[in-house]
This record gives sequence, C-alpha cells and structure tokens, in this order.
Amino acid sequence: MGAWSDAAVSLLFGSSCVGCSMPGRAWCPQCDAELSQAVDPVILNCDPPVVVCCGYSGCVPEAVVGFKDRGVRTLGPVLGQVLAAGLLLVRAGLPDHLRPVVVPVPSTGAAVRRRGFDHTWELARIAAAAVDLPTTRLLRSGSRQDSAALSFAARRANLAGSMRVRRTGHGPVILVDDVRTSGATLAEAERVLLAAGYAVMGRVVVAGR
Ligand SMILES: [Zn+2]
Repeated sequence: MGAWSDAAVSLLFGSSCVGCSMPGRAWCPQCDAELSQAVDPVILNCDPPVVVCCGYSGCVPEAVVGFKDRGVRTLGPVLGQVLAAGLLLVRAGLPDHLRPVVVPVPSTGAAVRRRGFDHTWELARIAAAAVDLPTTRLLRSGSRQDSAALSFAARRANLAGSMRVRRTGHGPVILVDDVRTSGATLAEAERVLLAAGYAVMGRVVVAGR
C-alpha cells in the first residue's frame, strides 16, 4: 500500500503510526525498517547471560508501548522476531541436546486486564515458535503494584513475593521480558524459578538501557 492509500485509510479510520505519527498504518514501513536496523543483540556480562536485543531508543520505545499499551497488535510479530534474535544467541552458547523452555516474566493481573491481553506471553510464544523452542507460562504474578512509578528501593521491596511458580520442576529455561531497566524484575523471576528447581540458562529482553 502506498502513501496515498495509507492517507485514505487514515481518513477512513483515523489511524496514524505510533512511531512517527504519519497518517496511515499503526506501524509504518519506515519505522519498521528503522526497528529492523536497531536489532543488534548484545550479551551483558552476567551469569546466566542477559541478552538485550536492541537499545531503548529511536522508534523502539514507541514500538513497545504501541504494542502493549496502545493496542497495536500487529507489532506482536515484529517484536517477537526481535526477541527471537536474542533467543538464538543464548541457544548458540548451549549444548545441542538442551532444549530450554521459554518462560515470560508475568505482568500483574490488573495490567493484563487493562491491556486486554498478556503481552509478554504473546511475545514469548511468537519468539519461541520462530526458533523452534517450547514455551510455557511457568510464572504467575502475585499481588504487587505496577512498578513504573516506584523508586528503585521501593521496586525491590515491591518485587519480593511478586511472582510465583505455577509448578515445581526441573530442566533448562530461558526467561524473556519486553524491557529491562534495573534488571530487578528479571533477577526476581530467576530467583523464583531456581527455587522451584529449574535451571535458568539465559535472560532475553527486546530492549534495554
Ligand atoms: Zn512510523
């Protein structure tokens, strides 16, 4: 579809790109190309490794927020493919016979209800399918506040007991999330999985700072 028909679509439906506000599709080809170029998975020096698939800059924040909070569901496959690039990097460092299960960091029940869908689960499913790995929602949210408005110290306190494992078990898992800020959420998710018997082989996020 060209620029003219995008404009026509905008007139009909009032949509514009969440990345650049251009009338037309909710995620335009230019922003899509910019996001593709931003994908450059980096392994942070931790054990297990943390892979950050792209920086939280340019059109990336708009893509993530557009997907999870502005209802642009077509960004699911786009961001899922970004996450898949990080999964491949973790998998490349593992023995061939290991087939880790991809586990999303859970959102609070309130956040899922507000959004109308479970965005990290959707990203995990798409990314895992792209690299032929199994995925399951092993973690569920406990009662915690949405952490966006909290200080770092308050976040840590809020995180304790914020996640529960659905069932104890064993075997390798890779944790995934949308955005890594302090890393505290991923660390708590890892702690809960380890305590339940699982082996965390890596942690992968779409974007990080
Ligand atoms: Zn755009």
